[in-house]
Amino acid sequence: MSDHSDHDVIIIGAGFAGMYQLHRLRQLGYDTRVIEAGEDVGGTWYWNRYPGARCDIESIEYSYSFDPELEQDWNWSERYAAQPELLSYAQHVAHRYDLRKHITFNCRVEEMTWSDDARRWTVTTDDGTSRTAQYVIAATGCLSVPSRPQFEGLADFKGEVYWTSRWPHEGVDLSGKRLAVIGTGSSGLQTITAIAPVVDALTVFQRTPSYAVPAHNGPIGERLADAKTRYHEIREASRMTRTGFQCNSGMRSLTETEAEEVRREFDARWADGGLCFPSAFKDILRDMKANDAAAEYVRGRIRERVKDPELAEKLSPRTYPIASKRMCVDTGYFEVYNQDNVSLVDINEQPIRRITERGITAGDTPHEFDVIILATGFDAMTGALNAIDIRSGDDRSLREKWAHGPRTYLGLMSAGFPNLFMVTGPQSPSVLSNMMTSIEYHVDWITRALEYLREHGLSRMEPALDAEDNWVNTTNDLAALTVMPQAASWYMGANIPGKQRVFMPFAGGVGTYKLIGDGVAVAHYHGFELS
Ligand code: FAD
Ligand code: NAP
Repeated sequence: MSDHSDHDVIIIGAGFAGMYQLHRLRQLGYDTRVIEAGEDVGGTWYWNRYPGARCDIESIEYSYSFDPELEQDWNWSERYAAQPELLSYAQHVAHRYDLRKHITFNCRVEEMTWSDDARRWTVTTDDGTSRTAQYVIAATGCLSVPSRPQFEGLADFKGEVYWTSRWPHEGVDLSGKRLAVIGTGSSGLQTITAIAPVVDALTVFQRTPSYAVPAHNGPIGERLADAKTRYHEIREASRMTRTGFQCNSGMRSLTETEAEEVRREFDARWADGGLCFPSAFKDILRDMKANDAAAEYVRGRIRERVKDPELAEKLSPRTYPIASKRMCVDTGYFEVYNQDNVSLVDINEQPIRRITERGITAGDTPHEFDVIILATGFDAMTGALNAIDIRSGDDRSLREKWAHGPRTYLGLMSAGFPNLFMVTGPQSPSVLSNMMTSIEYHVDWITRALEYLREHGLSRMEPALDAEDNWVNTTNDLAALTVMPQAASWYMGANIPGKQRVFMPFAGGVGTYKLIGDGVAVAHYHGFELS
């Protein structure tokens, strides 16, 4: 079926990226349609409604910067906003800029085919409708496709099963129940911390412990009032940082700093809380000796927080470098294990054998539960794009092209797939950063490119193969200068069986990336073929 609708631009996804992209293009008069699988805006914050979900970048910075009036009008209540507040923010933005009338909800893009003759993409959705557009912008999210590992017997379990990434909208009453949580990444940590006080008994099944820094969350207080007096300055500075948020990056090498001074610096960052911790010294991500020292500091903090030394050791990460996976920002996670109703099963010692009608058998021990919560992560960065059958004019699919790892120029486009842009695509800083900064930069870059094409009477844009090859090599080389590829992380695709292991984000930093992206644009889109 075809509804014969033809647009200038189709945007896939109505998370923060798709919403801002729609706003920008509407302002410039493009006929734009957004297609979103969910029934409302918000993306990550629409889907991930598990107890305790909140941001790991302070709300002052994990928010849009494009409209100073929005910055002034919106009031965050906490230093790190929780999911309901983040979703309300997305809904407020949709209402304020009247976005919803351009969004088709409950609709999933399944196929896209490029016609070079027509210079158009045909976009087919799960309701059988086809639409065409000159440009497609995939704002499909880096962490939007849940990973659902196979647990033998899960279907036999007679109790309730919930995935954190698809938490029921009506909420779940967990009080007085016996719970299992599988997964101890950020989603698992936040869930465990939030539910431990209300459940009867909680058993955590841990495969790999996480490095976490305290959030010191609380009412936002004066921080917001202060930010509102100098928001412009904060945003300008953040765009040029490595991480996309204010983070006093240490200029010293840990390995050349006195032990006492190292301790003082870590203590200060620990007291302040949040993701600035690994930026304390410039060699933490580059030198294993420095990395070990930072990791040992965090393990020392775990020993202080967990009363039982044996348990503290089990909760201490040792098998991968600190910050080689996105660090967790916690609000009392480790202290949870001092509660009598919480226990830990290290599944390296007692592997999950199967899930039964009544619970989980790990090692030889059966554990009985009323509820199992799975916090097992996402098919990150490429998952949402590869879920769509994207075909070029010569019928080559993006999935095939990326079988050995994603190939892009600037994380924005991939050769052979003209007029298809990606927001926070692989080989851009994206998941290593404050994603709001990276999203806004990409949306602005793409918008500027479309304006350039329009002003110059051009209708087709595609990366040159050599520019793409160079960019892939650059991102691989940059990653190899760090310790990050040493972890079996989702940055590497290691959490998905059969996925090619390659470090996917651009590790050169947000500020450096911006300089490169701006330079390419100024140089009339150097490395792209325009016609
Ligand atoms: P998303 O919010 O993922 O939105 C993508 C949208 O595209 C989704 O609504 C999805 O339904 C839709 N979509 C995908 N494929 C299709 C399709 N084929 N057809 C139709 N629709 C489709 N980042 C930070 O910087 N700081 C944080 O604190 C932070 N916290 C996070 C917490 C959680 C629980 C998770 C999972 C991620 C977090 N992130 C965080 C990363 C977060 O994903 C980004 O910050 C940001 O919200 C991404 O916005 P987006 O619009 O790019 O993607
Ligand atoms: P994740 O970091 O990938 O964690 C998944 C967890 O599930 C890991 O502990 C993993 O163990 C475990 N797991 C996966 N498959 C398993 C299996 N078959 N058996 C046992 N355990 C298994 O996913 P996430 O916690 O959803 O976080 C993903 C990213 O989303 C974060 O890194 C962050 O960028 C973002 N996020 C941010 C926040 C926030 O604080 N704002 C909250 C949630 C998510 P292994 O490590 O051994 O694979």
